[in-house]
Amino acid sequence: EAVRSRCYSNVGAATFSMPSISSPPGVKLLLGGKFLDSQANEWIDVVNPATQEVVSRVPLTTGEEFDAAVAAARQAYPAWRDTPITVRQRFMFKLQELIRRDMDKLALSVTTEQGKTLQDARGDVFRGLEVVEQACGTVTMQMGEYVENVSSGIDTYSIRQPLGVCAGICPFNFPAMIPLWMFPMAVTCGNTFVLKPSEKDPGAAMMLAELAAEAGLPAGVLNIVHGTNDVVNRICDHPDIKAISFVGSDKAGMHIYSRAAAKGKRIQCNMGAKNHAVVMPDANPDATLNALVGAAFGAAGQRCMAISTVVFVGGSTTWEDGLRERAVKLKVSAGIEPGADLGPVISKQAKERIFSLVQSGLSHGAKLVLDGRDIKVPGYVEGNFVGPTILSNVTPDMECYKEEIFGPVLLCLEAQTLEEAVAIINRNKYGNGTAIFTTSGAAARFFQHEIDVGQVGINVPIPVPLPFFSFTGSRGSFAGDLNFYGKAGVQFFTQIKTVTSQWKETFSKGVAMAFPTSQ
Ligand code: NAD
Repeated sequence: EAVRSRCYSNVGAATFSMPSISSPPGVKLLLGGKFLDSQANEWIDVVNPATQEVVSRVPLTTGEEFDAAVAAARQAYPAWRDTPITVRQRFMFKLQELIRRDMDKLALSVTTEQGKTLQDARGDVFRGLEVVEQACGTVTMQMGEYVENVSSGIDTYSIRQPLGVCAGICPFNFPAMIPLWMFPMAVTCGNTFVLKPSEKDPGAAMMLAELAAEAGLPAGVLNIVHGTNDVVNRICDHPDIKAISFVGSDKAGMHIYSRAAAKGKRIQCNMGAKNHAVVMPDANPDATLNALVGAAFGAAGQRCMAISTVVFVGGSTTWEDGLRERAVKLKVSAGIEPGADLGPVISKQAKERIFSLVQSGLSHGAKLVLDGRDIKVPGYVEGNFVGPTILSNVTPDMECYKEEIFGPVLLCLEAQTLEEAVAIINRNKYGNGTAIFTTSGAAARFFQHEIDVGQVGINVPIPVPLPFFSFTGSRGSFAGDLNFYGKAGVQFFTQIKTVTSQWKETFSKGVAMAFPTSQ
């Protein structure tokens, strides 16, 4: 109860009904500038994964409420589109200031609902904040192009205009960062927005919406709906929604991609991952082992850029010993506990799935270097904890290799050469992130050139680009053409209009019947 009331004190006060011990607060909708109670008949419990406490209840938005959200966004669009871009940017300047002010409250909400440690939760908020900072400079990214005199006295220029109403569908693992990948860029480009946070942890998104309102964002520019498959299908089908940003699993992503594309919408889908690290024999041992342990087990492996697989070139035993030595020392506990290195996984089902993938690996010949399955966390007997787990002797035909595990499990493979390691990675269906650890520039250069993965780290374990670049996962990890944030993000949220103009004192006389060519 203490955590619950801390979480909802001040920030969040408008977006949740007041909590009481007997009934957890309901998460509100944001429709046309008003935070409202849903009339839904069905509600889902938002559960603290460290304690099983029901933190809040999230409604399955009704059809009428969803339509009202889209209508509010549509109504707000003309005036918002015509608001000068410099003015639109100023809302982002204010929003970034408010996010900084409330960083700790946002992080506490993330920890309470998602489970990650408070320090990691601050990182979740901070990486989203950086997109808001980038959105403050949208004007330079939204500039058009101009060519004078494409034909005699004729000029052509292109302008980037907003699309209209756009929507975002979020996953559970970054409850603050991913909403911030979506609506700040979309609205600063001149669109209005309907956001659907993850039903597992909507709290941070609600607080961000409250901060956007405090920053003065006009009513209807940002709207929030809740729910699962039904509301997502409504987003895919609604004729007034022009573009959809999705982040989440392959299954949902490909469903949304095909359903919304059939309605002619623009879509960007960031999906699952299996990020491999390659460790060369010449890699710096200490730095490499520390990087691998942080990237594999941080956030309990529930990061789309977690390193979940490592390929050791030329022998793995010493490396595996080093990994175990470090991983065994990590403190697994509730994210609010001081000194916790990793928290619980999101749900009992996620924990069961992780266990069954580990077991299937062992049944097919993998070896346990470290077993985190029977971990007991004092004071949190009900938590969904999985301790750091390391499997060696893994081969690409194993189920545990083919599936995204999304837990604190590191798979170890071996290759004789760098070429063989690259071939393994390029055969994997995903292309989100990868990293090489080496002291050889030539090996790094070869890897960077040959690897078919969208985000590459060279002695950097989690190479998530800052928002002046874009998040460039590829192959099975992405569907669409234009990536999240950066220049590609602005391109996603705008369409090009090309104008060809002629201003002359005297126009030529007579009818020209031939197709115009430049003269
Ligand atoms: P999820 O696909 O279960 O849920 C994501 C969203 O889709 C939620 O809002 C959910 O309500 C909705 N949804 C789920 N199933 C649906 C269905 N059948 N029909 C319509 N909507 C549906 O994903 P998750 O478990 O919340 O998130 C974890 C996944 O997200 C992992 O696969 C992870 O790799 C991926 N992820 C990818 C990135 C990236 O940038 N590539 C970033 C973060 C997370």
